[in-house]
Amino acid sequence: MELYTGLQRLTIRNSGLRNIQPRAFAKNPHLRYIDLSGNRLTTLSWQLFQTLRLFELRLERNLFNCSCDIRWIQLWQEKGEANLQYQELYCMNMDAAIIPLQEMNITQCDLPEISVSHVNLTVREGENAVITCNGSGSPLPDVDWTVADLHSINTHQTNLNWTNVHAINLTLVNVTSEDNGFLLTCIAENVVGMSNASVLLTVYYPPRILTLEEPVLHLEHCIAFAVHGNPAPTLHWLHNGQVLRETEIIHMEFYQQGEVSEGCLLFNKPTHYNNGNYTIVATNQLGSANQTIKGHFLEKPFPESTDSFVSIGDYEVSPTPPITVTHKPEEDTFGVSIAVGLAAFACVLLVVLFIMINKYGRRSKFGMKGPVAVISGEEDSASPLHHINHGITTPSSLDAGPDTVVIGMTRIPVIENPQYFRQGHNCHKPDTYVQHIKRRDIVLKRELGEGAFGKVFLAECYNLSPTNDKMLVAVKALKDPTLAARKDFQREAELLTNLQHEHIVKFYGVCGDGDPLIMVFEYMKHGDLNKFLRAHGPDAMILVDGQPRQAKGELGLSQMLHIASQIASGMVYLASQHFVHRDLATRNCLVGANLLVKIGDFGMSRDVYSTDYYRVGGHTMLPIRWMPPESIMYRKFTTESDVWSFGVILWEIFTYGKQPWFQLSNTEVIECITQGRVLERPRVCPKEVYDIMLGCWQREPQQRLNIKEIYKILHALGKATPIYLDILG
Ligand code: AMP
Repeated sequence: MELYTGLQRLTIRNSGLRNIQPRAFAKNPHLRYIDLSGNRLTTLSWQLFQTLRLFELRLERNLFNCSCDIRWIQLWQEKGEANLQYQELYCMNMDAAIIPLQEMNITQCDLPEISVSHVNLTVREGENAVITCNGSGSPLPDVDWTVADLHSINTHQTNLNWTNVHAINLTLVNVTSEDNGFLLTCIAENVVGMSNASVLLTVYYPPRILTLEEPVLHLEHCIAFAVHGNPAPTLHWLHNGQVLRETEIIHMEFYQQGEVSEGCLLFNKPTHYNNGNYTIVATNQLGSANQTIKGHFLEKPFPESTDSFVSIGDYEVSPTPPITVTHKPEEDTFGVSIAVGLAAFACVLLVVLFIMINKYGRRSKFGMKGPVAVISGEEDSASPLHHINHGITTPSSLDAGPDTVVIGMTRIPVIENPQYFRQGHNCHKPDTYVQHIKRRDIVLKRELGEGAFGKVFLAECYNLSPTNDKMLVAVKALKDPTLAARKDFQREAELLTNLQHEHIVKFYGVCGDGDPLIMVFEYMKHGDLNKFLRAHGPDAMILVDGQPRQAKGELGLSQMLHIASQIASGMVYLASQHFVHRDLATRNCLVGANLLVKIGDFGMSRDVYSTDYYRVGGHTMLPIRWMPPESIMYRKFTTESDVWSFGVILWEIFTYGKQPWFQLSNTEVIECITQGRVLERPRVCPKEVYDIMLGCWQREPQQRLNIKEIYKILHALGKATPIYLDILG
């Protein structure tokens, strides 16, 4: 029998079979139907079928010996197991009389009884414990503990065999925390059958820190930790040895899985004031554990700056609002940092402003993100503040001279760009060579749009390609001058240099000689896909002779499929690079000539489409309408969460660019998604395509369609003539 490991049905009928060895079916775990009728079996052991989940066992037309050995068949018949209740079974008694099995009456032949000394056993780590199991009945059962996987060294110790009681002690020695939650099971068995009893082992142990990692920037900076202990430890943090109080800027989030607590100490826009040693302290009744890690977020602001400017930054997280005043490089640098409240801060600001404008009158070349005042300090000392602008990256100001004073007094909304992180590791490659383009080779033509990093312009770029002496490009100018933003810019450029695919927007390089910093991209003449979809939908209007008219050129089904499969193709590539985008949406795709579509933005479009994002905890913006439940609840972003977003992209395409859940507020959307509701099928969407959406919106990430499969399906649907697609459902 051991050759037939997959066997499900076994029939040995009318064959004169007399005996079956006790372990005959040990290698046939899939047996469900066994027919042994019409044989010469006189006895049979229940242990043969012990590990099987039998639906049917046929035993008719065997003449068993009436004995305790077949009492189990009688019991199974009574309980209706394995369909035995419908069978007419007989046995021959000592007088050679054949009687129905149900009438067999054998004394001292019953299932074993079992009892254990504890229902639950609670032990501290390192202690010893003894538990006893008693098996009784007749025939007297064998008793044993099944503790093969137990880590704590255990010894079996058989006790006395009293009449009708067989007791066995189990001694646990030096109990370990690994055995917490273990079910210690005792078994008593005789020829009639088996009984068992279990004891739940709870091991109390002091906290231990399993992991503590240096801060990593996901959506916020996170010091990731994992801690365990039983009872669950309480957690708190020290910063440079001082108790750290949670604020809007620093807070802890964790969830508990069994005995393990995993989570993050999260930092929203940390500055150099947050640098230092972070110690996690975990405490329970049995003790305490701690571990320290270094958190380094930012250098002191602009230590290496060569420009003359006054910068009063966004340091509300620090106990002391700092003021840094920097002179021309050839002069000594001086800085004033005063630990005073807001009133003093304002006074110093005015004094410094007055001195700087009158005495040095120099300009910084950078713009700042957010509500930042840019003040041109011309020689008119009576009215030094005569030009105020929001952001300086207009074509003319790209060449802003050295005489600009930039004073940023308000919070700069730093919107984290999540794109730098691959699953598990950072995408930043130190050896990436980013192409540098000369500033004089770029001639700006007009503004194309605006993102969180700055404005986007159409430009002509000279000497970019060996075949064309000039070509049209899109340039993005960095308007945030902080050191962190410069680093982000550099990393973004390295990331984009490394991502090369026909459906990822082409990145040509950076222009880093002077300010502002510029990124140069291929120009996609129809702009972002969301605008494009709206302009080609049923509601699109155009002005003809100043009058609004219905626009013609609604997108057809095959065009929609073509758009979708190109994005899927770009995503297949991103997934192959283990790159998690986190912000896939039509607003982040671009459309070129001949309906060429590319994934064109890696987290920079949040200003214009700010209603598509939901602000959580200060300045973190999340595109919740495109996010699966696990990203909303745990900030877990994976290739599978990108697939969810792709489902939403499909929905956007087939609704001509509608905002997902447009009828609901952000909090209602969160409720809807976490409760498992999904977007409805758009009116013009074929069933086949909606099935893909539903495949992307499976709650369990592993059950979602794979992006490769999605691409194949879309590609095939795109090729099929539209009549095959079930538009009416
Ligand atoms: P972003 O900062 O990437 O979100 O860009 C803001 C806007 O500029 C987009 O919504 C597009 O309309 C436009 N844009 C960005 N990149 C390009 C490009 N490569 N070609 C044409 N338009 C672009």
